Amino acid sequence: MAEHFDIIIIGGGPAGLTAAIYARRAGKTVLLLEKEGFGGQIASSPNVENFPGFPSISGAELADRLYDQACGLGAQIDLEEVLEVQDGSIKTVSTDYGSYSCTALILATGMKHRTLGLPGEDALSGISFCAVCDGAFYAGKDVVVCGGGNTALQDALFLSELCRHVTVIHRRTDFRGDPILVERLQRLENVSFILPAEVVGLHSQDSVLTGLVLQDTISGTRSNLAVSGLFEAVGQLPEQRLAASLVPVDADGFVPAGENCLTPAKGIFVAGDCRSKEVRQLTTACADGAVAALAACKYCSNT
Ligand code: NAP
Repeated sequence: MAEHFDIIIIGGGPAGLTAAIYARRAGKTVLLLEKEGFGGQIASSPNVENFPGFPSISGAELADRLYDQACGLGAQIDLEEVLEVQDGSIKTVSTDYGSYSCTALILATGMKHRTLGLPGEDALSGISFCAVCDGAFYAGKDVVVCGGGNTALQDALFLSELCRHVTVIHRRTDFRGDPILVERLQRLENVSFILPAEVVGLHSQDSVLTGLVLQDTISGTRSNLAVSGLFEAVGQLPEQRLAASLVPVDADGFVPAGENCLTPAKGIFVAGDCRSKEVRQLTTACADGAVAALAACKYCSNT
């Protein structure tokens, strides 16, 4: 028979780990399932400067701390991919390792990287979505960061310390990311900007990226830029496969829920970036985790 937990949390990012902390402190049995790595996207953020109480902390350290805290409180945390969930008064969660059951389920499945969708993008080496993971491969080389959000700006700052030159390419002249990061980049001698422009093609030799085709988004003028690495930081899309099989999702694939994070499905809660909402920040992911966990605990106690 499948091992039973009061609450199963799917997703080991800040929302899921915070939910585990709150649910354990409320005395519930908790299983957290994560398919890749703990900490979600924040784990690859070079430097987090807007998490209250931590003026500056690496995303990896923050992720480790969240993981240790949830583990220390007795949450069972496993690296397993959830393949299917069967809804009912008792829910069954099937993974690539086995099956578990629970009374309440929290979906904290987060987001995945958006890609530029360029021909050859998947097959070339020299294209990365994680500056912290891959930056060292480009030490002393020229790289491009594409995007105008905080991820792109933080990545460019991180890479500027390793690479010979970093070019930030963004499709608008206004940045979506924090002005304080733009100003910091503008002061660096080995960082330049090409704005407003898009990457519209890739040059390669022997399956290795050698350059980019750029297009000015106003004039349409095209140019070539020789680079060793392209870091794509063009936002994320919700991980919707599992959610969509259980609850209604909106046109963009996010899960609508009220302020208590309860979905229309009984006993299924949603927390973090995969929830339909205005502000997607580390702090709001953690807030969702707490709210969803407390609502799920109440649901378990009343069921
Ligand atoms: P984001 O804020 O959604 O920014 C994505 C960027 O990519 C935008 O500038 C967008 O351009 C551009 N873009 C999207 N599709 C594109 C395409 N097809 N071609 C070219 N450019 C494209 O994503 P993010 O930077 O990953 O940040 C996600 C969230 O995490 C944000 O709320 C951010 O503040 C947060 N975050 C926080 C930290 C931190 O240190 N606390 C670090 C990283 C991220 P437009 O602006 O023109 O739409």
